[in-house]
Amino acid sequence: MPLRDVHVVWFKRDLRVADHAALSAACEAGPVLPLFIWAPQVWSAEDASLSQAMFVRDSLQDLAHALQQLGLHLHVYHHDPLTLLQRLHAKFGIAGLYSHEETGNQHTYTIDQQVQVWCRMQGIVWQEWPQNGVVRRLSDRQQWQAQWALRMQAPVITVPASGLAVRLPDHGLERLPAVAGHAQAERQVGGIGVAEAVMADFLTRRVHGYQRGISSPLSAVQACSRLSPYLAWGAVSLRTVVQATRARAQQTENVQQRRQLHSFESRLHWHCHFMQKLESEPRIEHQSFYRGFEALQSRLPDAAVALRLQAWQDAQTGWPLVDACMQMLNQSGWLNFRMRAMLMSTASYLLQLPWRQSGLHLARAFVDYEPGIHWPQVQMQSGTTGINTLRIYHPVKQALTQDPQGVFVRQWLPVLRQVPDSWIFEPWRMPPGLQRRYGCLIGRDYPAPMVDIGEAIQTAKQDWFAIRQTMPAHAVADILQRHASRKSRHFPKVDRGSLRKKSNRSTASVSAQSPAASQLSLQF
Ligand SMILES: Cc1cc2nc3c(=O)[nH]c(=O)nc-3n(C[C@H](O)[C@H](O)[C@H](O)COP(=O)(O)OP(=O)(O)OC[C@H]3O[C@@H](n4cnc5c(N)ncnc54)[C@H](O)[C@@H]3O)c2cc1C
Repeated sequence: MPLRDVHVVWFKRDLRVADHAALSAACEAGPVLPLFIWAPQVWSAEDASLSQAMFVRDSLQDLAHALQQLGLHLHVYHHDPLTLLQRLHAKFGIAGLYSHEETGNQHTYTIDQQVQVWCRMQGIVWQEWPQNGVVRRLSDRQQWQAQWALRMQAPVITVPASGLAVRLPDHGLERLPAVAGHAQAERQVGGIGVAEAVMADFLTRRVHGYQRGISSPLSAVQACSRLSPYLAWGAVSLRTVVQATRARAQQTENVQQRRQLHSFESRLHWHCHFMQKLESEPRIEHQSFYRGFEALQSRLPDAAVALRLQAWQDAQTGWPLVDACMQMLNQSGWLNFRMRAMLMSTASYLLQLPWRQSGLHLARAFVDYEPGIHWPQVQMQSGTTGINTLRIYHPVKQALTQDPQGVFVRQWLPVLRQVPDSWIFEPWRMPPGLQRRYGCLIGRDYPAPMVDIGEAIQTAKQDWFAIRQTMPAHAVADILQRHASRKSRHFPKVDRGSLRKKSNRSTASVSAQSPAASQLSLQF
């Protein structure tokens, strides 16, 4: 077949064939060239990591196999996307470009802008479809919930029967891009098949312990769905997960299980709720929501930042739960929400680190790195939105609540294994004789904390309130208007109670409600 008028499906964070609007449309249009591009500017960026690349490679192998069943070949290239598309067009003629919308980082955004301009100049129609609840060019936040609900209940797009294949030489599936970082020994494996298996196992078996188990790092490994990397890289669509969750809730007579399923669905809603913030305001990848908080980003001299950052990311802060969480993250690429929030809070409030720098370490460490969730969460846990409750996690109180017997801490910090329960969360308080007896000399085997927790919390609160008090009303209104979602009937009723209970329970953190946010019935 002469290669003219090729319909290019550009796979990005949608590495699947089911519920794939772009693939379906291209298959109906004519000869299809499925394309994945390892863009050097994306994979050499400071938020990319080897583990993410390995997860993507797993996913591409599965995707290639699924496309093969449709008679299509996945073309994988290591190239600047614009130049590659220009070459393909010069050689074969691109009849249309098909993809999902992406809420990515600054690099993917720039690539998209360049490709958009080029397509216009060449007269190539680039069709993009939403793949979750994020709304591009959203003009009214009031309408957002309804749109999310509509998208989630729309029928899942079926896999096309087959496509007319195009086959060109490509770089193949094995090669990884040149990317920094280490291979995390215990990371999740990527792929469409694994995503389906993880979802089925969660919805039928593990969901029973969801609400009870998601906060402690000990139980969360099993209790949480563990779907985040599959959602982030699109091995399964959000709509598929939402509809499977609802179907399961309908099937079960068990009220308790229905509660768990509703609670889980509310998190799927948050997925898009947070991503919408970066979609609507891309600058927040680099700048504080409220610019006044930029002043908090340079409190320490560079040398102190470098020292503290290194200790935090190397699991050497001297606070056992913080270090155990970081160890687990560095080795597995995953951590539950509460412990992610605690790591971030420790970095921003106790160690006074700039959120962008600590956020970058977490971004690289998370196999499920999703810029649209990540940066708004990083900022929320650092207090820079200006409209959220100030919540500072106390590392020792969190340990007493979430790991009372120190099982998790001992699992990830072998140096503390002999230390008895009474000292396990504050080993620096052990008298020297006991340090010797338990084989853990502070300063030699395990570090002393760099700051006093109580004093650091006081300073953080003072610094935060000093800025918050000078925040003009119009700045509060602007952030609320742009980013806060309105309470809605679409939000599962059953979860309201659990949300309230959750905030009442947080005795292990220090919180203060921002007055503007408390008066409004809004959720950031
Ligand atoms: C500082 C910080 C950074 C984060 N960065 C990311 C990130 O890069 N990628 C990412 O997927 N999640 C991120 N999260 C949110 C959350 O911690 C993870 O989604 C969750 O731990 C993933 O595990 P799970 O799939 O088993 O979660 P489950 O509890 O089973 O939730 C199911 C899905 O709901 C969504 N979800 C759950 N909690 C949240 C939340 N609080 N906000 C938004 N969506 C949520 C995710 O898509 C998740 O996969 C971050 C949280 C914090 C505090």
